[in-house]
Amino acid sequence: MSDMWEVLRSTFGYESFRGDQEQIVAHVVGGGDAVVLMPTGGGKSLCYQVPALVREGCGVVVSPLIALMADQVAALRDLGVRAAFLNSTQMPEERAEVESAFRAGNLDLLYVAPERLNTAGTRNLLSQGKIALFAIDEAHCVSQWGHDFRPDYLALGDLAELWPDVPRIALTATATQRTHDEITDRLHLQRARHFVADFDRPNITYRIVTKTDPRRQLLDFIRSEGVVEGRPATGIVYALSRKSVEATAEFLVANGIDAMPYHAGLDRRLRQVTLERFLRADGVVVVATIAFGMGIDKPDVRFVAHIDLPKSVEGYYQETGRAGRDGLPSAAWMTYGLADVMQQRRLIDQSDGDAQHRRVQQQHLDAMLALCETVDCRRVQLLRYFGQEAAPCGNCDTCLDPPATWDGTVPAQKLLSTMVRLQRDLGDPPYGAGHLIDILRGADTARIRERGHTRLTTYGIGADLDAAAWRSVIRQLVATGVVEPRGDYGVLVLTEKSGPVLRGETTVMLRTDPARSPATRGRSTK
Ligand code: ADP
Ligand code: ZN
Repeated sequence: MSDMWEVLRSTFGYESFRGDQEQIVAHVVGGGDAVVLMPTGGGKSLCYQVPALVREGCGVVVSPLIALMADQVAALRDLGVRAAFLNSTQMPEERAEVESAFRAGNLDLLYVAPERLNTAGTRNLLSQGKIALFAIDEAHCVSQWGHDFRPDYLALGDLAELWPDVPRIALTATATQRTHDEITDRLHLQRARHFVADFDRPNITYRIVTKTDPRRQLLDFIRSEGVVEGRPATGIVYALSRKSVEATAEFLVANGIDAMPYHAGLDRRLRQVTLERFLRADGVVVVATIAFGMGIDKPDVRFVAHIDLPKSVEGYYQETGRAGRDGLPSAAWMTYGLADVMQQRRLIDQSDGDAQHRRVQQQHLDAMLALCETVDCRRVQLLRYFGQEAAPCGNCDTCLDPPATWDGTVPAQKLLSTMVRLQRDLGDPPYGAGHLIDILRGADTARIRERGHTRLTTYGIGADLDAAAWRSVIRQLVATGVVEPRGDYGVLVLTEKSGPVLRGETTVMLRTDPARSPATRGRSTK
């Protein structure tokens, strides 16, 4: 059995562990289970790769990123690690070869797609060899609430019972408390030690502006800030559609920026060339759909720009996290507006998923909008989303240039007292935003009549605000934790912060947002 430090140095060529890596590796080498929450680029792979090499047997890595498996395995082989993978892209002969290598004890690491791991054949195979550990990568895929839910992850809980003596390590960059709890629960990791990294990226400054002329705004941003020592800096611009990617890249090139488009519809060879240039040359700006960046490690990306609203805060965090991995000052810039929200709404409405899936997407969108609309420090808001506390950073846009605000205490109280009355006076279950807004605005809907909600003293007391303004109020109250969405239907419940607002002990300051209504227009109030 080799020593973890020796493996780190001789196999991976690193001098020292980073952050929690050392503790995690030592814990897993010693046979303990672990849940690792670490942001993208934090160095999760090493946390299971080193223990797999130190412990006897083969480390089995469950990963949903089939497209990346071949690359990951090739990179490990270059380091002299005996790695292989099993997934649906393989020929039967290839698979048979991997299987016999595993049985013979000739593998250090075996990457397996979750759907494959759950087959009787694979479980049978695994029982015929020695397993060093199970690593469950992208463990948030087990969360039905999350944006990457994979039903196959649910069956991975069995591993605890089938191989009780094999340590398991679950890893993710998604740190919301809810996801964290689901991972622990569904993967049967109750005995695991939890390692939660600091998600703050202090060298990144955050800025979100209202969209007026996105390409021009982007160009101004790149010209003024995407410059290091007089030379254009390397950056990534994310756009939602291929069309937008191409048009933006063209626009930047026409304005003297060394920009290249990157999306799945482009020729493979062209994509490879773009990637190589991005990695090797200085000052290249890649305009890409979100597919770009997974598994790419370029430390000196100086800025990440979003010209379309990301679908979730997780996505935003991961994408912006590709900036400044070298620790030097970097910028995360975004512009969003009416069209974005409309487009995202449409995408959600048209998505193939069931109603619950759509609600989850809606919640993600709302959280993203809350980040856009916050009057708080962006960093505080971002970290709070991931369940971490921080002090105002002093270098994001809202810290540097606090937005205009209005006193939303009275509307907040109207909402909260409606919720209280529904629960206390009528004994009703909690309702979603749509129905609460209908009550406040005095709408005449079948549901309101059936439930007798016209009898509430708060019925119609919020008619001074339109439904869109109410949505903005509610979204911001959700963002600050004054009310909380619950369950599959996203019904709103009171929190410990509700009372002080209701009693007038705290004031609620809301952002005056010129793009306030877009979030909600076109959304059903039912
Ligand atoms: P994650 O999976 O958390 O996104 P990776 O495991 O891909 O992150 O690691 C990100 C980058 O950091 C990789 O290039 C990796 O080689 C590098 N890295 C990880 N740990 C160390 C370390 N201890 N020393 C130096 N580089 C490291
Ligand atoms: Zn700030």
